[in-house]
Amino acid sequence: ATPSDSPPTVFDKILNKEIPSTVVYEDDKVLAFRDIAPRAPTHVLIIPKVRDGLTGLSKAKERHCEILGHLLYTAKLVAEQEGLDDGFRIVINDGPNGCQTVYHIHLHLIGGRQMDWFTG
Ligand code: 5GP
Repeated sequence: ATPSDSPPTVFDKILNKEIPSTVVYEDDKVLAFRDIAPRAPTHVLIIPKVRDGLTGLSKAKERHCEILGHLLYTAKLVAEQEGLDDGFRIVINDGPNGCQTVYHIHLHLIGGRQMDWFTG
């Protein structure tokens, strides 16, 4: 987050290592770590290191296209790393109706079991 950005979230604390997390992948732009309340054998959250106003997908501007692509490609890399050869699911919750709870954009990478479609 930048100083002018919206309020900090728990993900800032994870990024700052103020609270521990199990990191599974990291580069200069993104961090991927295990969800504290996993919904499947693999449940990884993938977040941008700099939020830049991207509290949720609904706030995306054209300047975010590169980081959005990077997040998605990271999901593919982590899926491979996690051995999710039979498939996986990517989820982005947005806003109250989407059940978003942390307002720092994140992809959920969920896998390691059969999913059902659709329990929404
Ligand atoms: P959302 O509901 O916003 O799409 O997803 C937020 C996710 O963050 C939830 O799945 C929740 O379990 C996870 N989460 C919340 N707090 C923490 C935390 O302190 N550590 C980790 N690793 N995950 C968290």
